[in-house]
Amino acid sequence: MSNFVYMFNEGRADMRSLLGGKGANLAEMTNIGLPVPFGMTITTQACKEYYQSQRSFPAGLKEEILEKLAFVEAKTGKKLGDIANPLLVSVRSGAVFSMPGMMDTILNLGLNEQTVQSLARNTSNLRFAYDSYRRFIQMFSDVVLEIPKHEFEYLLNEQKEDIGVVYDQELTVEALRSLIDKYKELVRSQIERPFPEDPIEQLFMAIEAVFRSWNNHRAIVYRNLNKINHDLGTAVNIQSMVFGNMGNDSGTGVAFSRNPSTGENIIYGEYLMNAQGEDVVAGIRTPQPIAQLQEDMPDIYDQFVRTVHILENHYRNMQDIEFTIEKGKLYLLQCRNGKRTAQAAVKIAHDMVSENLISKQEALLMVEPGQLDQLLHRQIDSSAKLSVIAKGLPASPGAASGQVVFDADSAERIAKTGCKVLMVRMETTPDDIHGIIAAQGVLTSRGGMTSHAAVVARGMGKPCVCGCETIKIDYTNQEFTIGSTTVKVGDLISIDGSTGRVILGEVPMKDPELSTEYTHLLSWADEFKTLAVRANADTPEDAAKARAFGATGIGLTRTEHMFMGSDRLPHVQQMILAETQEERQQALACLLPIQENDFYGILKEMEGLPVCIRLLDPPLHEFLPNLEGLVVETTKLRTSGENPAQLAEQESLLKKVRQLHEFNPMLGHRGCRLGITFPEIYEMQIRAIFNATAHLTKEGYTILPEVEIPLTIDKEELAFFQKRIAAIAEEVTKDFGVEFHYCIGTMIETPRAALLADELAEFSDFFSFGTNDLTQTCMGFSRDDAEGKFLPPYLEYKILKENPFIALDRKGVGELMKIAVERGRKTKPNLITGICGEHGGEPSSIDFCHHLGLDFVSCSPYRVPIARLAAAQAAVSQGESLGTR
Ligand code: ADP
Ligand code: MG
Ligand code: MG
Repeated sequence: MSNFVYMFNEGRADMRSLLGGKGANLAEMTNIGLPVPFGMTITTQACKEYYQSQRSFPAGLKEEILEKLAFVEAKTGKKLGDIANPLLVSVRSGAVFSMPGMMDTILNLGLNEQTVQSLARNTSNLRFAYDSYRRFIQMFSDVVLEIPKHEFEYLLNEQKEDIGVVYDQELTVEALRSLIDKYKELVRSQIERPFPEDPIEQLFMAIEAVFRSWNNHRAIVYRNLNKINHDLGTAVNIQSMVFGNMGNDSGTGVAFSRNPSTGENIIYGEYLMNAQGEDVVAGIRTPQPIAQLQEDMPDIYDQFVRTVHILENHYRNMQDIEFTIEKGKLYLLQCRNGKRTAQAAVKIAHDMVSENLISKQEALLMVEPGQLDQLLHRQIDSSAKLSVIAKGLPASPGAASGQVVFDADSAERIAKTGCKVLMVRMETTPDDIHGIIAAQGVLTSRGGMTSHAAVVARGMGKPCVCGCETIKIDYTNQEFTIGSTTVKVGDLISIDGSTGRVILGEVPMKDPELSTEYTHLLSWADEFKTLAVRANADTPEDAAKARAFGATGIGLTRTEHMFMGSDRLPHVQQMILAETQEERQQALACLLPIQENDFYGILKEMEGLPVCIRLLDPPLHEFLPNLEGLVVETTKLRTSGENPAQLAEQESLLKKVRQLHEFNPMLGHRGCRLGITFPEIYEMQIRAIFNATAHLTKEGYTILPEVEIPLTIDKEELAFFQKRIAAIAEEVTKDFGVEFHYCIGTMIETPRAALLADELAEFSDFFSFGTNDLTQTCMGFSRDDAEGKFLPPYLEYKILKENPFIALDRKGVGELMKIAVERGRKTKPNLITGICGEHGGEPSSIDFCHHLGLDFVSCSPYRVPIARLAAAQAAVSQGESLGTR
């Protein structure tokens, strides 16, 4: 016998998947003795079966509802439809995951022409009875009969005008009576039958309407946005009514047990006297702050404060509470864990530990790691008045102001003069990187949250708004328009990457102030986590930032960015274009001191901590001019015939670029394949690392460099380099007369490397999983092509559940990692293992890495705090997680 209906005294808080959040908490509050109007809950299972049986009530449901209703009637001493003492109920939706306001609720159900008179008689208040009745007709007609709300609003306003009043509660008995008649006429004309009088019929119709509201448009949109499963269904709560509209000793309100925006431990909320249900949020009258209740009704206020404390202590979390006061008596109608800002989340978690309400572990689990992002970036001063002109996707949090520029070169040039610029592009490509670096923030009109601009900006901790399709960019005229507003190059605008807003002019900004609560919480995270958190950093500035954010090492220093600056690119190009060994050596000799200086800065900044430096990885053509552009230029020179010397130069450059051109650069001549074919490049880099290390060691610093070989597939590659590295180390030791520490390892970025990890470990002190490339090589598709072309439909059709470049693919890539760790450690038990790249800063991937037993994760400096918290959560929630499967 299936059980579709539970009375409030039969449920518990942990039954939310069956009873929905609202139903489970109403039951819990009932059972701890709080004043909850009695009722019952129809399960989410009933809703699911309603949909399975082509939108009809599952067999037995109606009978069970009537059976349980009899208990509710007995308990309250009232009866649905009874002339002497009618029971009135609310019919409320309540999903497993809170979907505030997305579905529908009907109040005062059970009223008809007869029971409204009983209600008036029993309360000696005809006005109240009529007010309740007209509200019921209005809500029922909207939700159940689907007659547009505004038709009723229109009649209501007309009625108020007729008798010359402003507020609903000023309507007289006569006015309400006449309004009810007009409502009923409207209903009859719309549905061609009278408004239903039978309370049982009303009840079943309302229940079905709540089932239906699970699939109304806004509920579907909300679930898509919040990734809530569409199959869960909603529960339906049928609860005896209490009335906040019975006069001036009645009222209704909502409150949070603590301030949801600052976290301050003060009850925060609002209420309205002589009002019902939705009046508080509807904005008809301005509600009173909750503190006012202390003056209006001191006894009720005291009881309310005590109740709030009971709820907080019971749930051990900040609560969001709905209450109603009926003739001086307090009732609770809902509670749930309250939504809160990042600042409030941190403060509440911290304070609850100080108050001995929760443990440090619980506090760590209470804050969502991703939320910390909000705290780490510059923010718009919330007291400022803003002129918002457009809204795009909130791609990278923080706010930035600057002069509009439309290309990367201008961004760099103008920024050099000391002006702040904001780069506005349709979209960005890797060619724009210097512009992004120079700009305060980036605004694009195309592309999603994982577009190039978004990913790069997040990596740099720079604000970005992307996919802002309402702005029309005109590169030729150097302006963009939004409707009738035109913004020209050089004009000041601001963006808010936390909300997606685009704002005209400069906005007052404030630096993030990291609270002591934040510092404490993160120090607790460090107590519990077992994963080390390192950062990816290519400059001393980034290294310093990472250290300040709590990184305990660098997991990836990419050396290719160091080849880009204007003082080095010519040498790099000369090295690539060299026809002879000597020519190449010459170019490399120029680069050596520059690289040495780069490494010196980073290693010094990270003194005492490991720094993993990856040798050159990208294909060489990336350092040369773009092929298409070169073809155009060469053709121009050739047809003009004016400058034969320059033409010859261009032609040889073109030849080289053609030679280096690859069909499939991601799978091409890159990584250690470069080091094998041009050993001098790697030798220069290794020497630069060791020179810097020896230098610093001599100066008394403890320096721990790790030399990392990218994109290996076989141990023989490592054997090839190991000999050379050892030889260079020996030479440098001799040169400087100082012994220094170093180790050698490899990135695991190909399936073959993972499978042959036992052999690779013979030549490696550490493995670092480059999961961006490993995902590409494991899946057999490149990220740019995938995200631009077929990944969106793959996600839509649920072929893949998540973007594997954002959340690590556990089944495939994760399995390769697992194999590599196992086989690697078999050969070398003390092998250090870690992950670098974007996954290293993504909480669910970090959880996976924890369970895999890695030693470290590495992510961009701005994500270090997030990773510290996520690593702690993985450690304290052991067992709850899917683990390594
Ligand atoms: P939502 O999810 O939109 O908050 P609710 O089901 O919580 O919908 O109800 C809407 C409003 O009606 C709330 O203010 C709630 O407190 C009030 N309400 C619901 N049931 C009752 C009841 N039995 N008595 C009095 N007020 C009620
Ligand atoms: Mg509502
Ligand atoms: Mg509610």
